[in-house]
Amino acid sequence: MREYSIASIPADGIGPEVIAAGEVVLKSLEQRLGDVRFNFETFDWGSDHYKKHGVMMPADGLKTLKKFDAIYFGAVGAPDVPDHVTLWGLRLPICQGFDQYANVRPTKILPGITPPLRNCGPGDLDWVIIRENSEGEYAGAGGRVHRGLPEEVGTEVSIFTRVGVTRVMRYAFRLAQSRPRKLLTVVTKSNAQRHGMVMWDEIAAEVAQEFSDVTWDKMLVDAMTVRMTLKPQTLDTIVATNLHADVLSDLAGALAGSLGVAPTANIDPERRFPSMFEPIHGSAFDITGKGIANPVASFWTAAQMLDHLGEADASARLMKAVEQVTGAGVLTPDVGGTATTKEVTDAVVDAIHGSNV
Ligand code: NAD
Ligand code: MN
Repeated sequence: MREYSIASIPADGIGPEVIAAGEVVLKSLEQRLGDVRFNFETFDWGSDHYKKHGVMMPADGLKTLKKFDAIYFGAVGAPDVPDHVTLWGLRLPICQGFDQYANVRPTKILPGITPPLRNCGPGDLDWVIIRENSEGEYAGAGGRVHRGLPEEVGTEVSIFTRVGVTRVMRYAFRLAQSRPRKLLTVVTKSNAQRHGMVMWDEIAAEVAQEFSDVTWDKMLVDAMTVRMTLKPQTLDTIVATNLHADVLSDLAGALAGSLGVAPTANIDPERRFPSMFEPIHGSAFDITGKGIANPVASFWTAAQMLDHLGEADASARLMKAVEQVTGAGVLTPDVGGTATTKEVTDAVVDAIHGSNV
């Protein structure tokens, strides 16, 4: 029996709804496979914890999480707590504290889901976006609002280090190399941002020398939004900074049909710490409690978690079950269906137990 300890942090809004659904599905895989076990421990950290205790998670939160094999995360964000408090109080400290420097965001059009682009079918959009996840625009250092001056000044400081850029670039080239098309697009804004971004371009060219079988090109981030929309077939693996990839991957999620299906993995490739798996979307308080949150992103990120844990077979079974269910038209309203979170979850459980998965 292979056993994995998983820290669940459902947190806010629809986070608890989609993480509970993900746990149900992982437990059904456990039954189906028989030789693997997932031991979940749930932490009640998030905005309610903040309102009660003044902090999103306890001071020793990272110490508590360190012993787990993986972290399964919902979303943060509440209408009555500032977004920078929820983000910097929970999600970013985990990403940064555990040096999860590679944020991996696969996007493809799942069967049964109608994407918003005309002439763009499942085979036309199959990307993995790698977001630098430890520094850049979200380094959290140096910026402040200079109060008390006659004219207040707010500064945001981006930090790019040679070590930080090189390691994520190498990760991206390696991932591109592992995919059939062996194609990487490096995104910057090195025309306007002429320091850190120019260094990105230099490092990309250097790291490319180590991967002679990978075809790569460069794009400016603004032009990249156009290429993603008009020529999605020309892209495969994409690497960009923390901010640029944050924006591009929401666009990617929308082009694939909905943010509700878009997963993400915050990976420490050196495996010194647990990695964290979550849907891309936020707490979606407009639909919280209605039972209609799309659980597919949380299933897909669970599949990423299984891959990371070395359970490739379980991961493939889970994705096959998900694709069977979307393909059969069992869809939540965000992707044009009428099913509830529970109905989609039950259908995926059935597919996992079905003979052909
Ligand atoms: P959001 O992702 O929560 O929602 C955007 C839109 O997509 C909403 O209309 C929502 O209903 C819909 N949506 C998102 N996930 C869905 C799902 N699984 N099923 C069906 N529909 C879904 O983004 P927002 O509205 O900009 O932000 C809400 C809160 O979430 C804010 O407080 C924000 O700071 C926070 N947020 C957190 C994270 C995170 O925890 N990683 C990410 C983004 C936003
Ligand atoms: Mn985002």
